[in-house]
Amino acid sequence: MDRCNLRCTYCMPEESLNGKGVFLPSHHLLSDGEIELMVRVFTSLGVHKVRLTGGEPLLRPGFVELVDRISSIEGITDLALTTNAVLLPRYAEALKKAGLGRITVSLDSLDEAVFREMAGGRGSVSEVLDGIEAAEQAGFDNVKINTVVQRNINDHTVPDLVEHFRNSGHTIRLIEFMDVGNVNHWDRQLVVPSADLLKNIHDRWPLRPVAKQPLGETARRYAFTDGAGEIGFISSITEPFCGDCSRARITADGTFYSCLFSARGTELRDRIRGGLDAKELTAVIRDLWEKRGDRYSELRNELPRAQPHVEMYRMGG
Ligand code: SAM
Ligand code: SF4
Repeated sequence: MDRCNLRCTYCMPEESLNGKGVFLPSHHLLSDGEIELMVRVFTSLGVHKVRLTGGEPLLRPGFVELVDRISSIEGITDLALTTNAVLLPRYAEALKKAGLGRITVSLDSLDEAVFREMAGGRGSVSEVLDGIEAAEQAGFDNVKINTVVQRNINDHTVPDLVEHFRNSGHTIRLIEFMDVGNVNHWDRQLVVPSADLLKNIHDRWPLRPVAKQPLGETARRYAFTDGAGEIGFISSITEPFCGDCSRARITADGTFYSCLFSARGTELRDRIRGGLDAKELTAVIRDLWEKRGDRYSELRNELPRAQPHVEMYRMGG
């Protein structure tokens, strides 16, 4: 689902949408059956982890039923959702029953004015906190909290967030502002290097690196030495992790990308609608995966910024 009920300035700024006509018409979106087929094909190739994201996934009609269908596929051991949480109070319990395993919630600040500025004037801190509480009550533990940090916009509110989520059982992940898409006015000056955040947080609440990190983990994890839980840093700008990345991405309209920053993807939806069966789709995806050579983040400084990228809200973050 590429649509969203927020307009975060670093992802989908209101002015970039120009009022209308930017979102995909519903017949361009993959149907539930097409998504299920994709997931079955990926599991046959050894994928066990699936993340549903967007745009805002909870806006998709019939989303709970879709979760139910995906969670029932043999081989899926980790089914996760990334959401802005505004609609979670309505759906958390049903999602748990449908087999959703984990939830990541985006929250950039506890300061209402800062939150509203970053969310394009929509939503509120209390709605997101209510969403997190609903997730807890439904039985989701260790919710991940994603915070995009921007210099002079929300960096001064990071300590409050850290304090709020210490001892909560949830893990905050501080994300460097990334040059995804083409409309978010990315500016390196706005990036706060994770190393600076780490130092400031460590000075106040001592941290130690978590020794064993699973392969493909994007966040560098640290534990509070006083036992208050963990914190993660996602540092795609200052410490690219292309070499460890094992993610394939399918956009809302069924295009395959092997990198968040790809300029071009491979259209699969129309091939499926044209009759491509599971066996043929498996061969196409295997081939795409074997040929992938993306390492945009490692090459960022050598490439012209003008290079187009697919929008984050269409591909999913
Ligand atoms: N709407 C849902 C949400 O916000 O959680 C899911 C989609 S959103 C695109 C997924 C994640 O991407 C969010 O945590 C968001 O903060 C992150 N994100 C979006 N644009 C970003 C950017 N320019 N740099 C870093 N992270 C970004
Ligand atoms: Fe919507 Fe998520 Fe993008 Fe914010 S980051 S505009 S909530 S898709």
